[in-house]
Amino acid sequence: MTALAGTAALVTGASSGIGAATAKALAAQGAAVALLARRPDRLADLKAEIESAGGTALVVPADVTDAAEVASAVERTVVEFGRLDILVNNAGQMQSGPAAEAALQDWDAMVSVNIQGVLYATRAALPHLIKGAADAPRGVADLVTVSSTAGWVARPGTAVYSLTKFGVNAFSEGIRQELIGQRVRVGVVGPGTVDTEIFSHLSESSREAFERQTADMVKLRSEDIADAVLFMVTRDRRVAVNHMLVRAAEQTW
Ligand code: NDP
Repeated sequence: MTALAGTAALVTGASSGIGAATAKALAAQGAAVALLARRPDRLADLKAEIESAGGTALVVPADVTDAAEVASAVERTVVEFGRLDILVNNAGQMQSGPAAEAALQDWDAMVSVNIQGVLYATRAALPHLIKGAADAPRGVADLVTVSSTAGWVARPGTAVYSLTKFGVNAFSEGIRQELIGQRVRVGVVGPGTVDTEIFSHLSESSREAFERQTADMVKLRSEDIADAVLFMVTRDRRVAVNHMLVRAAEQTW
């Protein structure tokens, strides 16, 4: 039997990169997976891919910065799958550059997606995760948030991105302690540099700076982070892997 048979998961930011890889990895282990992001066409393609591999998927388009949309996506998931065992808070955005020249809307976007998005999805999912843990054959539910090495080390150019990732680490640690009695495990995965679309949204100068910085490095693949998430959520209920930092092997920061 697959490790997650009979469970239901919701992955935010499932339309590309780490989220898409994580959704596929969870589905391959038998979880029914709800796919949340803003681009429904990309989610529909992923659903078809998961289903053609024998898995179960549901498209729940939503913007994580809209609390009502996120709540209704969570409700649709629970109605469709009958339960919720795993939430992966993965949707995120990154902009970089000198603070003195930054566009405030870039900072707003990072705060609203990376922080408020995590809060809204978590708040909507928690009652279902608590219930899921209580009646799950696994005896546990999982809340995993994709942070970053930038959530452990702040660096020039990415101060606000770090602010958001340090923030979700703190939030996760607080609710980890709060939820122990209810058997909802709370974990944070901190990826290093992963080859995804996230860099395509950078300004040209930031992208060039980033490319210079990582030129000699073999970047991680989204599947490497999906592996880490899968490791966390497939442990026996007596084991809580709360933090995993997964750097590209040549990454210094
Ligand atoms: P991608 O750009 O490939 O994926 C980001 C995902 O987030 C997309 O599915 C996007 O979907 C979704 N998203 C963005 N804004 C919103 C929104 N407002 N509402 C709903 N979904 C949204 O990047 P990655 O896969 O690299 O990023 C995933 C996570 O990993 C992020 O939290 C990022 O901070 C983190 N991370 C990435 C690293 C890297 O090197 N790539 C390093 C460390 C951490 P859509 O546009 O369809 O809404």
